[in-house]
Amino acid sequence: MKDLIAEKICKEFPTPTDPLVVLEGASLTLSLGENVAIVGPSGSGKSTFLHILGTLDNPTSGTVTLGGQDPFELSEPELARFRNENIGIVFQDHHLLPQLTVLENTLTPALAQGSPSSSCIERARALIERVGLTDRVDHRPAELSGGERQRVAVARALIQHPKLLLADEPTGSLDRSTAREIGELLIEIQREEQTMLVVVTHSRELSDSMSQVMEIDSGRLVQQTNGG
Ligand code: ADP
Ligand code: MG
Repeated sequence: MKDLIAEKICKEFPTPTDPLVVLEGASLTLSLGENVAIVGPSGSGKSTFLHILGTLDNPTSGTVTLGGQDPFELSEPELARFRNENIGIVFQDHHLLPQLTVLENTLTPALAQGSPSSSCIERARALIERVGLTDRVDHRPAELSGGERQRVAVARALIQHPKLLLADEPTGSLDRSTAREIGELLIEIQREEQTMLVVVTHSRELSDSMSQVMEIDSGRLVQQTNGG
């Protein structure tokens, strides 16, 4: 069985008149170690789909199975724990906490389950080294460049050894060469950690460097042949 199965996901948003239908049977399967880019025009439902995979929003119909579990069958506290342990998310803007250092920001998902173990702190330091920020470990976000902040966001997303790493336009706020570095880092680190990676991106350069590209078309996901 695949480690991630999203089957016939439909999503409607209520409006004062007819509901707005965004997803109409979007399906995706992935195994550990695999990655996929999701592309499509603005407003086509990419973020909506990613949020559903990330259990931040629920589908109107259709099912998600991650590691054999349908997260939407869990109670609210069980779901929060499931998300924390299985899913790492990188957004377009880093969403780091300004008052915390690089090390503390990296540890925040682990803090949800009490004070971090020494092995957890070791893992945080190793990830910070992996993303190239060892000499910034005690710095706060305001003291970092945009690319460095996004590196911290990548380390934080991986702290709990998630099965699924999600990224919504992770390079969308960066200049071209920094965007390339962050894109390469995400893919390299996904291979090393053998997670699944789903990236929503407008960057042709980034989608071309991923193994699969899917396009959202009329609320469904359609396989694109990857020329890259
Ligand atoms: P994309 O990420 O591809 O640009 P989104 O998934 O953000 O697109 O949005 C798809 C459509 O759904 C848009 O028309 C957007 O306005 C609408 N939408 C997204 N989230 C909500 C919401 N919470 N309530 C109502 N409409 C929404
Ligand atoms: Mg979006």
